[in-house]
This record gives sequence, C-alpha cells and structure tokens, in this order.
Amino acid sequence: MRINSYLQSRAGAAYLGLAIGDALGATVEFMTPREIAAQYQVHKQLIGGGWLKLKPGQVTDDTTMALALGGSILEAGRVDAHAAARAFDAWMRGKPVDIGSTVRRGLLAFRKTGDPKMPPSEHDAGNGAAMRVLPVALATLDLPEENVRAACRAQAHVTHNNPLSDAATETLALMVRDALLGADKLDLLHQRAHPLAKQHPEFAFRAVRQRQNPSGYIVETLQAVFQAFFDTDTFEDCLIDVVNRGGDADTTGAIAGMLAGAVYGPAGIPQRWLLGLDAGVQCACETQALALLEL
Ligand code: MG
Ligand code: MG
Repeated sequence: MRINSYLQSRAGAAYLGLAIGDALGATVEFMTPREIAAQYQVHKQLIGGGWLKLKPGQVTDDTTMALALGGSILEAGRVDAHAAARAFDAWMRGKPVDIGSTVRRGLLAFRKTGDPKMPPSEHDAGNGAAMRVLPVALATLDLPEENVRAACRAQAHVTHNNPLSDAATETLALMVRDALLGADKLDLLHQRAHPLAKQHPEFAFRAVRQRQNPSGYIVETLQAVFQAFFDTDTFEDCLIDVVNRGGDADTTGAIAGMLAGAVYGPAGIPQRWLLGLDAGVQCACETQALALLEL
C-alpha cells in the first residue's frame, strides 16, 4: 500500500470524526429528540455533561475502546483476537467512564476462560463491536476484502458474536476503506449500504420513518446513521442530524463521525469541534491513525 497524504488526512479525519461524534453525542445520550430540543433547540456544541457528567470534549467507551483495539493491533503487528481481548480487558480494568453490558459480559468470560471468542448469540446484536472497528479498517487497507471481514469478526467476537453485528461491523469497516481509497457517498450507498440491506433486510433504512431515539441495537443504530449520513452534505450537518435524534447518541455520533470524516476529510471538520475535543484524545487519534496505515 502506497501511503499518500490524501490517505493520511482521510484516516486522521475518520478517527477525529469518531471522537468528535462520541463527545458531541454523549451530552444527549438517552434523551429524546423532544427533550433535546427543549434544552438546546439544536445540540451542536462540545459542552460535555449528559448522564455521564463529562467534561467538555471528553469521549466515552466508543473512542477509548477503538484506541485500545488500535493499540493492540500496533503491538501485535496485525489484528489478533487474543491481543484485542487483552487490550479490552486492560481497558476495563482502567475503570472506563462507561461500558456496555455485552462488552462487560464478554470480557468477564475472557478473564475466566482465556478464550477471546464468545459463543454465537442471537441476543448480542448491540452496536458495541461496530463502534470500535475503525482501527481494523485502517490496518487492513492493503488486504483482500475477505481478510478485512475476518479481521472485523475476530475483534467483534471477543464480545459480540452475532450475524447482524458482524454484517454491520464489516460493512462499516469496508465503507471507511472504500472512502479512503477514493469512493464517494453514492458509491458507498450502492456498493455497501444497499448490499447490506439486501443480505439482511433488517438494515433497510429508506423504508423506515426518521429513526428517532435509536437504541443500542445495531439495526436501529445503523438506520439512524445511514439516514443522517446519506441525507446530508457536510460533516457538521451529518453529526448534528444524528445526535439530535437522541437515544444512543454517542455511538450514532461516533459511527457517523467516522464515516463522515473519511468522506469529507479534515477540511470538513468545524474548527470549534477540533479545538473543543480533549487534546490528549485528539493527539492519540491522529497518531494512531498514521501508525495503523503504516503497519
Ligand atoms: Mg459511549
Ligand atoms: Mg452509547
């Protein structure tokens, strides 16, 4: 893979987009659109707060799990399930600000058995594996698509072993990959979002009315993200649209931010958000994005 400055800037923007979407959405996580409107009219500033009482610009598990996964990839030199599980376990021991129930269950099982693969479960269709997949996309740019998919599943199955979670996680990684390699939004719609819905009709998002209050169920999460991403034309509009739907807003924000960052690049990210993001997190995202590309 020839690393060029286009690729580097898009990869960095995807990682910053993830963190900004997380920090922006966390303020209104679990609120309804009506509650958000009553309090903020339109929520569009990195002000922290929310049910986690965050500092302005602070991120949550969506970003910190991605960074933990990325760190494990850099250390192992590839995507490795054991390395990922150990990194997630260390992350959990660090008392993260929040943690999903499926993630916690998977990591407690890993501590007990040493097996970094949960058994298949039809219930584990949460968005926790998809939200952290970005480093896999960046580390596997020069691999065939089948290897990318396998790498996505290896990290996902540490906590979520479910066909809908897998399909979404793989699709998101491939969308980021396509965007970094020059695909535009229409390409992503026709080559990734539509085929996903063809294979798993649950993911159809056009037939669904505006998906408000998206839950942590990966289907609702992705419907909200795709509606916001495909129906807006800028990074800023995409993130404002998706987080003001409330629900699992930090995670819809993180996933939408990753896609929008990859497509619109660094020039699309508003300065006020870049400056408002936690400085340590910003540095970690930018550094890791470049390191993963060079793996
Ligand atoms: Mg979170
Ligand atoms: Mg969340």
